[in-house]
Amino acid sequence: MIRTRFAPSPTGFMHIGNLRTALYEYLIAKSQSGKFILRIEDTDQNRLVEDAEKIIFETLKIAGLKHDEGPDIGGDFGPYVQSERKNIYTKYALELVKNKFAYYCFCEKEKSDGFEKHKCDCKNLPPEEIKNRLGLNKNFVIRQIIPEGETSFDDKVYGKIVVNNSELDDQVLIKSDGLPTYNFANVIDDHLMQITHVVRGCEYLSSTPKYNLLYKAFGWEIPEYIHLPLILDENGEKLSKRKGAASFEDLLKMGFLPEAIINYIALLGWSPTDNQEIFSLGELEKKFSINGLSKSPAIFDLKKLEWMNGEYIKKMPEDEFYNRALSCFKENIKKSNLDYKYMAKVSQTRINFISEAWKLFDFIDKLQDYNSELFINKKMKSTQEISLTVLECALNKFMSVNLNNWTENNLKEILMNMAKEKNLKTGQIFWPIRIALSGKQNTPCGATEIAEMLGKEETLKRINIGIEKLN
Ligand code: GLU
Repeated sequence: MIRTRFAPSPTGFMHIGNLRTALYEYLIAKSQSGKFILRIEDTDQNRLVEDAEKIIFETLKIAGLKHDEGPDIGGDFGPYVQSERKNIYTKYALELVKNKFAYYCFCEKEKSDGFEKHKCDCKNLPPEEIKNRLGLNKNFVIRQIIPEGETSFDDKVYGKIVVNNSELDDQVLIKSDGLPTYNFANVIDDHLMQITHVVRGCEYLSSTPKYNLLYKAFGWEIPEYIHLPLILDENGEKLSKRKGAASFEDLLKMGFLPEAIINYIALLGWSPTDNQEIFSLGELEKKFSINGLSKSPAIFDLKKLEWMNGEYIKKMPEDEFYNRALSCFKENIKKSNLDYKYMAKVSQTRINFISEAWKLFDFIDKLQDYNSELFINKKMKSTQEISLTVLECALNKFMSVNLNNWTENNLKEILMNMAKEKNLKTGQIFWPIRIALSGKQNTPCGATEIAEMLGKEETLKRINIGIEKLN
């Protein structure tokens, strides 16, 4: 049985890289009827953030990545929060000490500075002396003993990795506060929770040999490793919180739909065998395979995500889109009693963000100043002269329309008759009127729809403005 785990540290936000890890863990498990486990890695007590766990649960829920075991739902391998597993780690650390795979270290400096390796003599202290110091309640940490030789492993993405053990540090396993380091806890937990596939960022590649030495010391089976490439921004720099748009919450706030974000993130390091780009989570569960993973850095392209968001908006049921766009229409457009259903329908296919739908209709409240060259359109065979004639004629006809008859249908009929009368193409009639009414080259709907939205008075006013411009 495949078992994967998502093991976030509660930092208070969900970095896109972490969400990608979660997604791939989920997909590896689900594509093979396995289990996806959530484990909270909170052993760094200096970095705890309030509500951070809640953000993790929320993110997984919104993203649709349902876990099978975890702190909130339990499971057979709990507790699933590392700070609640302290005794477990202590027990295993002591076992390592007993078997000479680890040692008590009483040195003042717990952390090695930067890349410098820890060197001391604590490893060689006589047992009596160790007992003595422990009895005096001296501060200590437990460090791993790195044997001589070479360590190698096969990463599913990066291939064979070989390191000389002389490059590895006697890393701390248990800190002076009694809690384990991530470096120790991840091994113990992954083993006890029967994790078969470990997926995580490539920043952990270089530590993995040390973890493998621990597995060997215990005589445990080493899981499959899947390290993921970096995610870079358009400038080739690491995607960082500082620059915005690096977390799931940022993207949601910007108006991206969770389904679009998940779809996009799936492609940051994985590609299918064909050129398909749009995948529902269900489809990903079927098509995802470890073979499609790549080790080259993935570029996070916001523009591409915007496009994808637009595709998801197009696929949204009409009613749902209407319900979500409605408040934006009402909040941003002052004129009331508009046919919001119609407005939603014609904008749904033209935008990348729901919040942009109303902007397509910004001409309703205010006609922006426009250049009279807009009346010229070669394809429509529309010139400024013809436009002037059309606007004057339309003004006349519209003036006599009774308010009760001011409907899109009636107005269209009037204009169609006008085309026949004047022997003009419909485009030559509708183009200048739409320009005069909207002041814009592109609108989501036609001249007569706009005329109905604006009402008679405003329509006549704008046609007059157009006539003035052309004169
Ligand atoms: N707690 C680690 C992190 O958030 C997880 C690394 C791992 O998946 O092993 O980076």
